Amino acid sequence: MVCVSRIPRRDEATFAEVLGAHPDFPRLIAIKIDVQRRGLHYTRRAMAAVDPTRHQIYMWEGVAYPHSMLLRDGTTILAYPQPRDRNPYDVDFIDGAFVLIDAGQVVETVELWPKPLYYDKKTSSGLPMKEVVSARPQRLDIFASSFCHFAHVDDQGCQFCPLPHHHSQLREAYDLPTRLKPEDVKECIAEALKEPGRFTNIHITGGSVIKGREMLDAELDYYIKLLRAIGEVFATPRFPSQLLASPFSEKQLIRLREETGLGSYTSNIEVLDEQRFNWICPGKAHHIGYREWKDRLVRAVDIFGRGNVNTGIVGGVETAAPHGFPSEAEALRATLDEAEDLAQKGVTTVHTVWAPQKGSKFSELRSPSLDYFIRLASGLQEIRARHGLSVDFDDYRRCGNHPDSDLARLQ
Ligand code: SF4
Repeated sequence: MVCVSRIPRRDEATFAEVLGAHPDFPRLIAIKIDVQRRGLHYTRRAMAAVDPTRHQIYMWEGVAYPHSMLLRDGTTILAYPQPRDRNPYDVDFIDGAFVLIDAGQVVETVELWPKPLYYDKKTSSGLPMKEVVSARPQRLDIFASSFCHFAHVDDQGCQFCPLPHHHSQLREAYDLPTRLKPEDVKECIAEALKEPGRFTNIHITGGSVIKGREMLDAELDYYIKLLRAIGEVFATPRFPSQLLASPFSEKQLIRLREETGLGSYTSNIEVLDEQRFNWICPGKAHHIGYREWKDRLVRAVDIFGRGNVNTGIVGGVETAAPHGFPSEAEALRATLDEAEDLAQKGVTTVHTVWAPQKGSKFSELRSPSLDYFIRLASGLQEIRARHGLSVDFDDYRRCGNHPDSDLARLQ
């Protein structure tokens, strides 16, 4: 397996050939990976069949697209439109159903994400609730702040990351504050939870803010305020929640645990190799450093408990040209070795599927093969199983963006 990061996709093995080499790997999860990796193209017929009164819509580069889709076993696919030269899957509307098409053949029927009831409402301060708290099929998402110190101050943002670019656009379009007000978020959560049985978790994230007496105190103080406001909606001291934040120190993590009802803690290291981390995430490397990041994750286990701490990696970005691993085999070995080291210390690793996005510095590169992602997802789940770690707070229902945690429900 040699990395061919700039060669067009037509040279690749077909989906059937790759899956044939992995007969035990679930076909629907392989489809999810391949769609995330190659992206989507909605036909005119599909776009005409989208019903904004029933389907969840979002704006992408100025166009209103369906937010995403579900496969028939409940697997979520979070994928974005990609240009034709990336060989994306087509989404068409045939005989009353949305379908995924690869090379002219229908491969699966899909459902678009249903629009939550609160999406048409506004906060008492006049903000559209769907822009304050967005939804996945079973999770509420709060992008608390569009500001990221690494990207906006140091120009050292993670090279795969389009988020500062997209979030700034979104916030300007809707005149949202750079940082959401806790009372607006609380109001949206309370409204969303009126829909019976739909949401199982609340996910909060935002860019890194390094200011403060101790580095990251400003980010921490804000999250504590936000989590306390959300906690007022619940009758219990803890509520189902996941914070994806910067790697706080032990003292900061204790505050986070003791002063809020937060249920789990995540801090994304993005790349499990020090040399590639330094190149791909220069801001994170400069202010925190790879080894310190890992250490802080491990210390979080003492505070939040085993099975409640994880880290996310952007699966495949470790192969990016020109300084990524020279072969997929080396990339996989290094990544899984590091994930194993973290798992031994109680930290679970989940991966997303790297699909180079417009607005990121890596936008012209390409992701690795489907075979690579199948091996990565299987490897991470095998590590989790070997170390008796669960990932319930970031699984196929709560999140739906990690092929490896989709596998967790099958074991
Ligand atoms: S992925 Fe990196 S650049 Fe993007 S918001 Fe997070 S820390 Fe900032």
